[in-house]
Amino acid sequence: MPFDAIVAVARKEKRLMLTEVEAKQALKEAGIDVVDTRLAKDKAEAQRIAREIGYPVVLKIVSPDIIHKSDIGGVKVGLADEAAVSTAFDEIMAATKKANAKANVHGVAVQAMAKQGTEVILGMSKDPQFGPVLMFGLGGVLVEVLKDVAFRIVPLTPRDAGQMVREIKGYPVLEGYRGQDPADVARLEQAILTLSEFVEGHPEIKELDMNPIFAYKDGIAAVDARIVLEDEAAS
Ligand code: ADP
Ligand code: MG
Repeated sequence: MPFDAIVAVARKEKRLMLTEVEAKQALKEAGIDVVDTRLAKDKAEAQRIAREIGYPVVLKIVSPDIIHKSDIGGVKVGLADEAAVSTAFDEIMAATKKANAKANVHGVAVQAMAKQGTEVILGMSKDPQFGPVLMFGLGGVLVEVLKDVAFRIVPLTPRDAGQMVREIKGYPVLEGYRGQDPADVARLEQAILTLSEFVEGHPEIKELDMNPIFAYKDGIAAVDARIVLEDEAAS
């Protein structure tokens, strides 16, 4: 589904928050590598999709009313078979109901279980003065506690993307240290430029983040994505 159609569905449903499934679809179409992710409306569909994707899989709640999915028990990783998918499905639904009995639930996202990589985050927010700004950093504790992030104003040049990745304090982590694999920095720079173009072409996006992206020796994969739209009047 093209991004305009995804936005039209959200507008029709009067929501500003795209689901992870919608956000990943949009980013994939834009040319960013995302983990294979599909929406299942019920348990049987989740099991069918899991078989198609191949075990192990990850199940996550898909609801525009649940923003931090793992905080409420809405993410189950490393599901090895059909029985595990069944249990995870029930647990996710129970946890969601407990967190917000009124949550509008689309179903669950079934996705490939990505192998662990170096966690990075890449996002866009809007500055009142400068407009869309991209943020890049290392994921997890480094970004949350140390605020080790780099910012650039959209549109970015290839030079901006290169500097952005290298100016964070954690850059040595991306180069590989103590026997850890280096991260595919070229691919990260490419994703930054692709994201810059994507948000430049879509002023109706208010906020976007991929948290985390796993970076590997060869390639990257966004495992979580979030897009918030501007109010219709503003875009
Ligand atoms: P949240 O809404 O809580 O941010 P995420 O989708 O980021 O939920 O999932 C929480 C964590 O689970 C991620 O930070 C990542 O470590 C792990 N995870 C999520 N999706 C996958 C996946 N497809 N493969 C492997 N690990 C995943
Ligand atoms: Mg996340």
